Amino acid sequence: MNHTTGDKQLVTILGATGTIGVNTLDVIARHSEAYTVFAITANTNADKLLEQCKQYQPQYAVMQNEEAAQHLTEAIRAAGLNTQVKSGVSGLEYVASCAAVDTVMAAIVGAAGLLPTLAAAKAGKRILLANKEALVMSGQVLIDAVKDNNATLLPIDSEHNAIFQCLPIQSADGNYSPAEADYPGLGVDKILLTASGGPFRKLPLEQLGSVTPEQAVKHPNWVMGQKISIDSATMMNKGLELIEACWLFNILPEQIQVVLHPESVVHSMVSYIDGSVLAQLGNPDMRTPIANALGWPKRITAGVEPLDIFQVAQLNFETPDLERFPCLELAYNAFEAGGTSTAILNAANEVAVEAFLNKEIYFTDIAKTIANTLGSTTAHPADSLDIILQDDAAARLNARAYIAQIEQ
Ligand code: NAD
Ligand code: MG
Repeated sequence: MNHTTGDKQLVTILGATGTIGVNTLDVIARHSEAYTVFAITANTNADKLLEQCKQYQPQYAVMQNEEAAQHLTEAIRAAGLNTQVKSGVSGLEYVASCAAVDTVMAAIVGAAGLLPTLAAAKAGKRILLANKEALVMSGQVLIDAVKDNNATLLPIDSEHNAIFQCLPIQSADGNYSPAEADYPGLGVDKILLTASGGPFRKLPLEQLGSVTPEQAVKHPNWVMGQKISIDSATMMNKGLELIEACWLFNILPEQIQVVLHPESVVHSMVSYIDGSVLAQLGNPDMRTPIANALGWPKRITAGVEPLDIFQVAQLNFETPDLERFPCLELAYNAFEAGGTSTAILNAANEVAVEAFLNKEIYFTDIAKTIANTLGSTTAHPADSLDIILQDDAAARLNARAYIAQIEQ
């Protein structure tokens, strides 16, 4: 079966059952004349992937989990669909790199997204990057893979997509990579990376230790997956985004200022040497950055309500409190330390967030676990994927050992 028809772009959605995946399918459904879903993937939720297969009739569906893949295969047969089922990392890499595919939405959460995202880069795809952890872990390795294979990396993270829109984009031929631009040379002074501050921005510090996972996942402005919601509450999300911005836009952390902006209407800003500050504003709805990157350099509709600035009425900006948000400083320090330090930071954070969600540790133990793991795991120059994966694994072991110790 061949889905390639005329000028239609074939899209693979890694992590189709997640928040970003579902929003991506929603945008694509509004433009069925321009985009066809080639493949969708999920970790374990075969039922949800089956529903998506019925609606979008992709050529492939991939379940990371083998048992779930078996279940999906039977369900797809019973439903009389033509979708082929694949499984495991090899299945994810296959649909990310298939010759027919034009665009890959990288929306798996966490380190699990790295290998398929790299596969897409090596195959020269247009990558829409939501999976910031992949870039935080692999840094130069992913950037080089994009460059060496003429892939295109477009940011989905709302802040980075906003920055992308406010930067001087000179060439829009589809091969342009922001990671190679000389932004200081183009008059960029600094980037103002906005953050909502999450649900605990105003909570008395002494109460932070006793917040529950249920309270922590309730983000004031955005509806997101569990892991990124916890990252937003600790502000590790902003720490990861600071590192993400350095790689995506080839800039230094000193050129980035984190700004607390509780309304989440300004999605980030770029300040220029002539005193101009360009901002991108919009309702907090991920379909805007998704549509922006999917259609780029064209603008396409996203199904997002126009921003009512009269209703917003006020925009507030504050500096973040590093005592309240120690994760931000940990991320900054890990990037400064370089090499695999950011992979260690990311791995420790993933382990700690999971432990917090499982009620094994307190909210305030997340930062402690990361700090301890950064201290106990030896970082190396991040020259190869093998070294990155090795230090990621070592960091996970050390983080778990630390958690086992504080649990007693
Ligand atoms: P989510 O938890 O809602 O969805 C995660 C997706 O990844 C699901 O489809 C799941 O099946 C898949 N997945 C999870 N573990 C996997 C594994 N081991 N192997 C293969 N697939 C796996 O997450 P989300 O909120 O959609 O976030 C996805 C990514 O996008 C994250 O990296 C997040 O930081 C980033 N992001 C999300 C938002 C947002 O608003 N949700 C905004 C900016 C960036
Ligand atoms: Mg973001």
